[in-house]
Amino acid sequence: MTTKARIVIVGGSFGGLATAYELRRHIGPQRAEVTLISSQRQFTFIPSLTWVATGTRTLSQISFDLAGPLAAKQVGFTHDTVVGIDVEAKVVSTQRSEHPYDFLVIATGHRSANEAVEGLGPFDGPGHSPMSPPEAEELGRAIHALMDDPGPIVVGAAPGASCIGPAYELAFELDHLLRRRKLRHLVPITFVTCEPYLGHMGMGGAGKIRHLLEGELEERDIPYRTSAAVTKITSESVEVDGAAPISSALSIVIPPLAGVEVVAQSPGLSNPKGFVPVDSRYRHQTLSDIYAVGVAVAMAPVDQTPVPVNFPKTGHMTDQMAQIAARDIVARIDGHDGETAELSARCVLDMGDRGAYLAVDPVRPPRNRIPTVSEGRRWLLAKRAFEWTYLWHARHGRQMPTAVGW
Ligand SMILES: Cc1cc2nc3c(=O)[nH]c(=O)nc-3n(C[C@H](O)[C@H](O)[C@H](O)COP(=O)(O)OP(=O)(O)OC[C@H]3O[C@@H](n4cnc5c(N)ncnc54)[C@H](O)[C@@H]3O)c2cc1C
Repeated sequence: MTTKARIVIVGGSFGGLATAYELRRHIGPQRAEVTLISSQRQFTFIPSLTWVATGTRTLSQISFDLAGPLAAKQVGFTHDTVVGIDVEAKVVSTQRSEHPYDFLVIATGHRSANEAVEGLGPFDGPGHSPMSPPEAEELGRAIHALMDDPGPIVVGAAPGASCIGPAYELAFELDHLLRRRKLRHLVPITFVTCEPYLGHMGMGGAGKIRHLLEGELEERDIPYRTSAAVTKITSESVEVDGAAPISSALSIVIPPLAGVEVVAQSPGLSNPKGFVPVDSRYRHQTLSDIYAVGVAVAMAPVDQTPVPVNFPKTGHMTDQMAQIAARDIVARIDGHDGETAELSARCVLDMGDRGAYLAVDPVRPPRNRIPTVSEGRRWLLAKRAFEWTYLWHARHGRQMPTAVGW
């Protein structure tokens, strides 16, 4: 390419920011103009939303303005909502402007498909979830109210959910919080999940994590139901297919996800759920100048389960996708193809008073390497340290750390 390439990124979270930084590591402003458009002015460290809900973090502690760090990297920033993507004309339209592109990276994350189960919420029904900053704050208010007026809690994941880790974290964190306040004896907690067994997490399980989670829930008096299809949430109960309703004053149920409206409604861009079908370099399968990274990507489930469980597109995986996509764009500007790599997953699960670390490589079984699973208080400390480290790197335009895991 002899003229300056125009690269437009939509989304200012893990996928968008990591793509912008990776592009700038490999290509300067004299060869490529990079513009990031986001409907949010700020980057928010989404994995800490469970801590926002339980009151150990505020949103301002885990967020920063995107404009400064992007300007420092000579990346244009437009705080606006994309309302149209014309894949023929290669133009992205926002509410206020138009952005022609040579390469487009879609990093728009998800829409909670709350219509899938009656009562999923918090803004569509009495259920709660921590899937976005406003939802996490709303859940925080509901937890606060429950402390004043204790009653049973149900935590779980609806059929088709993919982001199941936060459900486990909230069950453990609430158990811990209630014990500290000497209220646990007044609050039965039940865990209901679409997974065929605990710790499946949409990855087909990970080594000993199943046994670890079974033991941890049992030790904490949290009964659990697997292959459970939540069918309805009311203000007093959670209904599960083929079983008696479970009494619940606070129902936290992770919804299935879909692609955001503008992607779902742009002809030829997405699958019926609104996710973007990509190849191994995260290029669109038919529109090769369009890339998608993160939760916006279409990924098939790893296996067939009695109740559907979808592939988990974690923050760690999103960073890997962003690096592969950004390097491929630069390679194509230079006249060749970039490299591909299998996704791996590392994450730390907060269990209230300790943490569980798991690492799988690759994500899809069968795997040559036996997954690493470890547990202890040090992992909770590592999770807290990672949050700080990630935010520092993201704010300063540095390569995102992935050594320990999320
Ligand atoms: C509660 C919770 C806990 C989690 N914990 C972990 C964890 O411990 N470890 C881990 O690895 N992963 C975790 N995850 C998953 C991780 O947060 C996601 O993988 C990650 O946020 C995906 O990043 P993304 O950039 O694809 O999408 P998102 O983070 O959803 O960001 C989407 C971006 O697109 C923008 N956008 C959307 N539509 C438009 C539009 N029309 N116009 C302009 N901008 C638009 C949004 O403003 C936002 O900036 C967790 C997720 C949740 C909800």
